[in-house]
Amino acid sequence: MSLTGVGSARAELLGRLGIGTVGDLIFHFPRSYDDLTKVSGMDELQADVLQTVQGEVCDMEGKELADGRRVVTVAIADERGRVIAGTWFNMPFITRQFRYGQRVAFSGKPKWNRGVWQMNHPRVQVLDGAGDAKREVVPVYPLTEGLRADQLRELIRQALARAAEHVPEVLPPALRVRREYSPVKEALWEVHFPEVLAQGLAARQRFVYEEFLVLQVALALRRREVRDRQRAPQLVCTPAIDAHIRRLLPFRLTGDQDRAVAAIGRDLASDRPMQRLLQADVGAGKTAVAVHALLVAVANKHQAALMAPTEVLARQHWLTVDGLLAQSRVRRALLTGGLPARERRQILDGLKSGDIDLVIGTQALVQEGVEFARLGLVAIDEQHKFGVHQRARVRKLGVDPHYLVMTATPIPRTLALAVFGDLDTSVIKELPPGRQRVLTRWHTESQRERVYERFREALRAGRQAYIVCPLVEESEALDLKAAEQQFAELRDGPFKDFRVGLLHGRLDDTAKDRVMQQFRDRELDLLVSTVVVEVGVDVPNATLMLIEHAERFGLSQLHQLRGRVSRGTEAGECYLFTGLTTDEAKQRLRAVCRTSDGFALAEEDARLRGLGQFFGTRQHGLGELRFGDLVQDQELLALARQDAFELVGADARLQKPEHQELRQAVLARYGQTLELAEIG
Ligand code: ADP
Ligand code: MG
Repeated sequence: MSLTGVGSARAELLGRLGIGTVGDLIFHFPRSYDDLTKVSGMDELQADVLQTVQGEVCDMEGKELADGRRVVTVAIADERGRVIAGTWFNMPFITRQFRYGQRVAFSGKPKWNRGVWQMNHPRVQVLDGAGDAKREVVPVYPLTEGLRADQLRELIRQALARAAEHVPEVLPPALRVRREYSPVKEALWEVHFPEVLAQGLAARQRFVYEEFLVLQVALALRRREVRDRQRAPQLVCTPAIDAHIRRLLPFRLTGDQDRAVAAIGRDLASDRPMQRLLQADVGAGKTAVAVHALLVAVANKHQAALMAPTEVLARQHWLTVDGLLAQSRVRRALLTGGLPARERRQILDGLKSGDIDLVIGTQALVQEGVEFARLGLVAIDEQHKFGVHQRARVRKLGVDPHYLVMTATPIPRTLALAVFGDLDTSVIKELPPGRQRVLTRWHTESQRERVYERFREALRAGRQAYIVCPLVEESEALDLKAAEQQFAELRDGPFKDFRVGLLHGRLDDTAKDRVMQQFRDRELDLLVSTVVVEVGVDVPNATLMLIEHAERFGLSQLHQLRGRVSRGTEAGECYLFTGLTTDEAKQRLRAVCRTSDGFALAEEDARLRGLGQFFGTRQHGLGELRFGDLVQDQELLALARQDAFELVGADARLQKPEHQELRQAVLARYGQTLELAEIG
């Protein structure tokens, strides 16, 4: 339905708010409410609390302040002569609204100022005769210049009157009643024109719940579909296989790793594809768990694939796995984007014929043209970069493999529920024995020389260290120059007695490998690096890290980075230096210094970043949430999830008549992204 009766100028203004249809207008919800239902007598005023007060205009004056601002004061008095003054800055025309003796109401937050109650820029109502101020809840909308709040409210009122009853009721009646929400038509009026504050808030909650329900039903359906429709090979981890794999590992698995291995073992033994998320704190040892799973698949005569988000990480995994398998007959390959055509062809042929058992690679693995003879398991290292889309693509490989996703760092619980809600979860919190936490300190420039001295001392004692320089400039070429310059200064200055190397994103693969190998072989003492080190290197002897411009990194990135210097039994040290820092960045840096628990940091990160905007569902391929906030509305998300899974449990294909609107909503929003073909 289009916005008839709206002129083109007005339509343009609405367009800036993303409003193009009557439907958009109806769903343009208030950001908050001003609760003007509290009317106070002059003797009941409370400082800083929003309230309304009424009286007769008894004084008006205007004057210029020392700083040049013009201030207008309009005082009103009650019948006993008690007074409150409304003040307006730089709005001299405001006095024209008033007459002496007129009855008016002011709404705002009063302050007690030099013996007088005062309200800045109050909202004004002119009262006729002996009438009282309206006790109303006023919605506060996102606005744009040129469109007044009352104009927008009027448009919304008209839109509701015309169209509210045509808005479909997505919530199934039973659920709506159980959760005590209003029907959609009423809820829409309540959101925009609540009688009391609680009514507006409850109506908003209804739509948040609805949004979460649609998402969770989609995830539940997807999970259902995988369970019902797909068949995976049964990969059994016999005691002999298990013992054999464990003998390859240079350490004993921790309790948490054992539990994850056991859960995965149960999943793999089933003919339903495993759908499992593995979350671990940085350095807690996901790789060993993944390798165990990969080798179970290979031992069962199936192929296994490990996918990494970057080439560097794929190489890192390759080095680890290849090292573990040095004495084994597992036929393995590393498939990356940069391979010469002939080698690439050979690997692809090997995968297709079944001559390769185990392949490690990047997204190149899910590109068209890659075929497997008998793919049994795909393990994906997510690093926040993969999302729903990639998962869907893997499924198209022709068979139904088991499926293990790993996140680089812990992610907030709500994000896990929202984005990975169709997966089972294993968590590794426990760090390998002897691992110590990284001492993290935030230093000012004046302490830099002392920190350098600490580095030199450690390097002389045989340790190794990283200096991380983030991307600073807009252009990669400038960044490269900055990194090279810093490298030269460090090499010729404070660290001239040491062997210093440079690793940055612009180096080609061979050059990167060479630098990494040198560092691993202790031919370099100090590695100056752009962020590629984040996932790239696993060198237990490197125990110190200095991070420049730490304010430019996100919380989980910092946590991931410092995880590089806690690979051995020596306590790692991480020093943060910053440029100009916002308050938000300060909180982030303090949090990193305060705790080394990645799971706690994930929750803190979500809290600091607030709205799902930066850390939401969008990067993960699920689109932006419109009403819900993953942090503030956690409880509703959990509730919606529970209801959604129950609902799909009872009506797996959403065939009941009372689920038809919900089904439409789910398909419209997630049908394509989540490939919910079966119910379509
Ligand atoms: P992440 O979970 O961050 O990917 P990794 O799998 O890279 O962690 O493991 C981090 C380091 O800990 C590696 O050097 C690995 O060899 C070591 N490690 C993993 N598990 C254990 C264990 N059970 N005992 C001792 N060291 C371990
Ligand atoms: Mg790892």
